[in-house]
Amino acid sequence: MSTAPSADQAAVPYWTVGDVRVHRVDEVALPAATGSWLLPDATPDLVAGQPWLRPHFADDEGTLRIDSHTFAFTVGGSRILVDTGIGNGKERANPAWHDLRTDFLQRLTAAGFPPDSVDLVILTHLHADHVGWNTRRENGKWVPTFRNARYLTSRTEREFWAGYDMEEARRQMFRDSVFPVEEAGLLDLVDVPAEGLEAVPGLRLLPTPGHTPGHLALELTSRGRTALITGDCIHHPVQLAHPAVGACVDIDPERSEASRRELLGSLADTDTLVLGTHFAPPTAGRVVTHEDTYRLLPVPAGTARLR
Ligand SMILES: [Zn+2]
Repeated sequence: MSTAPSADQAAVPYWTVGDVRVHRVDEVALPAATGSWLLPDATPDLVAGQPWLRPHFADDEGTLRIDSHTFAFTVGGSRILVDTGIGNGKERANPAWHDLRTDFLQRLTAAGFPPDSVDLVILTHLHADHVGWNTRRENGKWVPTFRNARYLTSRTEREFWAGYDMEEARRQMFRDSVFPVEEAGLLDLVDVPAEGLEAVPGLRLLPTPGHTPGHLALELTSRGRTALITGDCIHHPVQLAHPAVGACVDIDPERSEASRRELLGSLADTDTLVLGTHFAPPTAGRVVTHEDTYRLLPVPAGTARLR
């Protein structure tokens, strides 16, 4: 497992969107095997056919780079996190997610978001690598990490999993990372109509179903500038060139592809800054038309030393 530098050494990457500074808070770079497992149709040959993916998003062998991180920003007076990564000390079947010991919370604090200061945690969907830091272990018990925050996800998402015949590993994830937040009365379920819903002024939830039924992307607007957080509607920039490439864990692959194509069509050749939930650094960019589809024009982060 590769590790990022310690929080003490780390400069915190951010992008400016109007008046808003969107920070990327790194959790972990996922192992090389993740890409071929997650996106099996993104073969080394297919990746090699898109030289713009190198060196940031793929290596010379055509192996995809995939990261886990959170976005943190303040908008409309609310201090917000989008997704909470894998978490520490969680018992997971996937060895890359099992029993992590990262200094994510120190990084989050270094970015200016100590856990108790967070107002709102938005969960794009309820998969293990998006809800992990919802909780942390205290005296042998899983308790909400962000005890002063409301947590928010779509009602469709929560209800889908409530009716799903879960395997034990998934039940475990709900037990350690979702139920404790619900039992503390901190989880809000929202109905998100097709045209989207404003969660707080300047931040819209966009239904992008397929990866999961209630999956949300997020659109942030400030002073005429717009950013889009992908969630898992797009896992990797290779899917800009090949929107038909889906994830092995998509609940509805066709719907997922349709959501991805629709989203990419709306972003293409606009000024919108796309922030990829699993994109390796530089993580952000603009979607531009390329041959019959698209590519990502990376936009590097600025860095701030905040402590
Ligand atoms: Zn994910």
